[in-house]
Amino acid sequence: MPHEMSTRVTNGPTPGIAITHPLPGEPGGHCRTTVCSWTAEPGDPAPPTVKQPEYHLRYRSLCGGCGHTGPDRSEENAAVEDGCDHAFPGWRELPVMAERPYAGAALERWEAEARAVYPAGWFDRGGPVRATRRPMGGRHVPGYAPGGGYSMGVVRERPSKESARRIQGSLFD
Ligand SMILES: [Zn+2]
Repeated sequence: MPHEMSTRVTNGPTPGIAITHPLPGEPGGHCRTTVCSWTAEPGDPAPPTVKQPEYHLRYRSLCGGCGHTGPDRSEENAAVEDGCDHAFPGWRELPVMAERPYAGAALERWEAEARAVYPAGWFDRGGPVRATRRPMGGRHVPGYAPGGGYSMGVVRERPSKESARRIQGSLFD
């Protein structure tokens, strides 16, 4: 079953491997994050980086700038993180923004705030943004950073009633 985000390419690094998003563009230039996906055939060898060997889709980061490839993965998020570790080292230490508004003035304000707190030029190179997500919404989404890079989902669990009670209780200790 083809992956919904995939674009089949015939001149990619390996025949049959699809660039998931975004297209890597011309070789050369600065390093950037691209992810490939492909369908594993039953019985294909699975390196230890593939956590779910029985899952049919495999992912791998591919740098459109220098051609660096990450390890094979069974989770798209892991491949995106590999690509960001390669092209944008230090991204894990950058601030976590609020949940991204969908559109309009709120989105403009959110993007301006991200540009103000992230390193100068970061988003112009296609760097990722770290953004708060609701539970189950942790997929790293391409194109949702201010410059078109990945939005890296940081899931914030709602505090459980139990932990809320503990916090409230401690206020009166
Ligand atoms: Zn590179």
